[in-house]
Amino acid sequence: MKGLARITKGEIGWVEREKPVAGPRDAIVRPLALAPCSSELHMIWGDMGDYMPSGRIMGHEAAGVVDSVGNEVRDFKPGDRVIVPAITPNYLRVPSQRGFAQHCDGMASGMPFCTQKDGTFAEYFHVNDADAQLALIPDGVTLDQAVMVGDMMTTGFYGAEMANVQLGSTVAVFGIGPVGLMAVAGAHLLGAARILAVGSRPNAVKVAKEYGATEIIDYHNGDTVKQIMDLTNGAGVDAVITAGGGVETIGQGIEVLQPGGTLGNINAMEHAESIPIPLAAWGAGLANKTIKGDVCPGGRARMERLAALIKAGRIDPSKMITHRFTNFEDIEEALLLMHEKPKNLIKPAVILE
Ligand code: NDP
Ligand code: ZN
Repeated sequence: MKGLARITKGEIGWVEREKPVAGPRDAIVRPLALAPCSSELHMIWGDMGDYMPSGRIMGHEAAGVVDSVGNEVRDFKPGDRVIVPAITPNYLRVPSQRGFAQHCDGMASGMPFCTQKDGTFAEYFHVNDADAQLALIPDGVTLDQAVMVGDMMTTGFYGAEMANVQLGSTVAVFGIGPVGLMAVAGAHLLGAARILAVGSRPNAVKVAKEYGATEIIDYHNGDTVKQIMDLTNGAGVDAVITAGGGVETIGQGIEVLQPGGTLGNINAMEHAESIPIPLAAWGAGLANKTIKGDVCPGGRARMERLAALIKAGRIDPSKMITHRFTNFEDIEEALLLMHEKPKNLIKPAVILE
């Protein structure tokens, strides 16, 4: 079989592999839908991939059909159509039992795809501990929707959960790429009254409004902090979610956050040694402002709940797919498109059925 791999920094190419084999608790899945992620850009073109062997198959966003399972897998069988989470931790580890499965074997080790083994951009891929990770695609949920669950939905919604969005909150979301858009939708579902979304791409702005953004702030039009403070009559916001931009967005988020508020970061940042935080906005160190940041959660239970939201008509993540391809080999073009980020792009996806 073949897969699309990172050859070296800045270079991708097709490689040949033996078809993977399932261990006793594992599944082999054939993709029916694939999407590239901005995190892949960090791994291929940025600073987050130099530890990878040359020829590692990329990809961690997929929905697919189960091809085979190990003899200890209870709840999945060949032919089942499944959502595959980007994060497939080892839930037997002590950090997992403490609630930090994303870091089950060390920092960010809960995503074996790409980092420890081949990813999903292959004709078949391996999923460890299938019963713990996979979720059946419910009737009525399309592949376009299902492929957005395992990373985009879980990540964006987690931003809103980490930021502790409450009924009636005023929330600022920095960045409305697909991750930020799902953060907007998550904040909306959690009951935010006002959602101030920061971004500029016109079709992302349109979708942000559809997902519940009440005000849009273009960071090109002057200081983001001033724009948010003006819109809130100097009060600032209850919660901040950072999902785009550089390290400066954390300091900006702290500036607009009220005392007692939480900033939930889901953006993977690079090109900096440290994160600057203005001391005055931090109340000389005493402002009771919390910063959280994490890798998104995976897990079958969460995937089932996210899919239930789609089935119930509470959210349609497929609105984010602006570029749709239909052949397996098109994942290369989709990934290159993600790298180029033309102005009309939100998310590309390859949908095979
Ligand atoms: P995109 O590049 O599509 O979106 C980035 C957004 O940030 C755009 O809306 C962009 O605005 C906006 N932006 C850029 N500069 C600024 C700025 N200075 N201030 C405010 N907003 C700004 O990225 P994705 O949505 O695909 O991914 C976002 C991040 O999430 C990536 O770093 C990715 O690696 C990470 N990620 C993290 C995961 C996790 O587990 N925590 C999982 C998946 C992804 P504009 O509209 O002008 O383009
Ligand atoms: Zn991702």
